Amino acid sequence: MSPVASERPSLIVVAGRPGAGKGTQCARIAAEVSAAHLSLGDALRQHVARGTPLGLEVRPFVDAGRLVPDRFALDLIDAQLERERAPMVLLDGFPRNLAQAEALECRQPGAVSLAVLLAVPLTTVAERLRSRGRPDDGEPTLRERFASFEHDTKPMLTWYERRGSLVVIDADQPHGDVTVAVKALLARSHTNHRHPATALGRPAAGSSLFSR
Ligand code: AMP
Repeated sequence: MSPVASERPSLIVVAGRPGAGKGTQCARIAAEVSAAHLSLGDALRQHVARGTPLGLEVRPFVDAGRLVPDRFALDLIDAQLERERAPMVLLDGFPRNLAQAEALECRQPGAVSLAVLLAVPLTTVAERLRSRGRPDDGEPTLRERFASFEHDTKPMLTWYERRGSLVVIDADQPHGDVTVAVKALLARSHTNHRHPATALGRPAAGSSLFSR
């Protein structure tokens, strides 16, 4: 690895449908290992709440449960990664579609060491979301956000899978157990940075968890 490349953090893409536990898991893991947690959704919500020029632009998309235009997502992530000094960064909810994944790969070739899908069935996330009460968790916004996962994010996951970077974690279990599973994955992928999914082997239930 070149000296320049080794200064860049290793990026872990964390994906999952609404209610899969992306934010919860990233926060827990970042608190326990040397990793930073970047949540694009949180950053966007802060802009919306503060009424910044960006917030005003993206608000209609966030309120409708649709992805904000890629250029906003990419600019925000660029600015956040620029400031980042941690050796590992957990990207919570970014990239969210194929165009963003390709743009990230173009800007930071080889930086994504792993894409982790937190897989949960719809019945479980429906229960979790009922108790969460976030403004964009109401109908019909939520329906749009689920649709976006199917139409925008799944093709991106297939792209990471073809590159040998995707690992599916069964997130239909208590948060603590999921945290243990993801931390074990990160520890093992650290020892085989180049081909994490190949080194780990896909979980036996991986493809069925992915498609349900
Ligand atoms: P999240 O907190 O990750 O569920 O994101 C909340 C909302 O922020 C989403 O419904 C989108 O409107 C927006 N958002 C978050 N991440 C992205 C992204 N990578 N690209 C576009 N919009 C995003």
